[in-house]
Amino acid sequence: MPEAINYFDEVREVVQEMGGQDITVCMQCGLCSGSCPWGRMEKESPFSIRQMLYMGRLGLEGFESDDILYACTTCGQCVVRCPRDVKIIDIVRAMRSVVAETGGIPKNLKAVLGSINSQGNPWSQDSEKRTIWAKDLDIPTYTDQEYLLYVCCTSAFDGRSQKIARAIATTLQKSGVSFGIIGNEEKCCGEAVRKIGAEEEFTALAEHNIELFKEKGVKKIITTSPHCFYTFKNEYPELGGEFEVIHYTELYANLIKEGQIKPVKGLAKKVIYHEPCYLGRHSKVFEAPREILSAIPEVQNIEFDKTKDNSMCCSGGGARIWMETEAGLRFSDVKAQEAMDKEADYLVTACPYCIVMLEDSLKNIDKDEKMAVKDISELISEAID
Ligand code: SF4
Ligand code: SF4
Repeated sequence: MPEAINYFDEVREVVQEMGGQDITVCMQCGLCSGSCPWGRMEKESPFSIRQMLYMGRLGLEGFESDDILYACTTCGQCVVRCPRDVKIIDIVRAMRSVVAETGGIPKNLKAVLGSINSQGNPWSQDSEKRTIWAKDLDIPTYTDQEYLLYVCCTSAFDGRSQKIARAIATTLQKSGVSFGIIGNEEKCCGEAVRKIGAEEEFTALAEHNIELFKEKGVKKIITTSPHCFYTFKNEYPELGGEFEVIHYTELYANLIKEGQIKPVKGLAKKVIYHEPCYLGRHSKVFEAPREILSAIPEVQNIEFDKTKDNSMCCSGGGARIWMETEAGLRFSDVKAQEAMDKEADYLVTACPYCIVMLEDSLKNIDKDEKMAVKDISELISEAID
């Protein structure tokens, strides 16, 4: 039997280096585990954040497995609940970084890091094709425009998600927003890379992008993904990257108020909004997406039972998007089913990861294709002239 490793002291040290917090402030009340979406899944999961925090100490075998340490989606629900303000996601990152140093990360995530190192994106795509989504759109290269439009790796390369990048770019063009793209020289923002525990790779990506943005004179950035938004805003400043960052939904909400985006075409559909964790709970952008949806004529907006800080995650964060999750165990399955039960026509969100997860779930439960998954940008692109 392999020797049990005591992770606790090492993790405690890494966490203290990262944020100065001593994880022994945890009083083991269990509120984190009680609020974790894994507890809502039909089949019982071995995952428990509280147990996980202390498994490191016990050195239990299997602690690094896909369904324990790597099960966390970093949704932040437990962080909102914790009475001791334990930085649970930082602890998960620290634990993963300790495991990463021993080469013990899951196979799929090793492939993601390989692709990041060779191509600068997690999707094993040719870095020279980063602007393929913009074909025939006549989008200017960034020179001295007001905004850089940073298109996330998923929307740059994934066929479904490219439609979102195209919808956003064409709406900005029609609204007279001054923007340009950099494209092939950009690399992944590194959000998921950091959540895998690969700190060195994250720093390399961030330093590359920061230098590139500064060299081009970028001051303001529009992001298509909440994950890039969160990272540019909260993590790049640590490395000297101070930019004014806005998620496209915030910009749209402002442009609607100022009359630069005018949704005029009616959409007689029942629409339910799924809150992306990194836009909602992590960044507190709760109103802008709802304001945009309310501005579309004839739309009937409905809500999930739990919203905003209590909204259930899709399962795609924390690098889970690249890991296999059995059907019926994905949080997006629960969200898609609830949207179906409420008879929504469109399940709407504002994040490329959420779109991937929700569409996957819908394929399993909506055999009659009664409901569709849409990004808010797609609804606006259809609603303007
Ligand atoms: S909610 Fe906070 S204090 Fe309670 S067990 Fe979880 S981490 Fe510890
Ligand atoms: S961040 Fe989300 S998935 Fe991870 S332990 Fe907390 S509640 Fe569970």
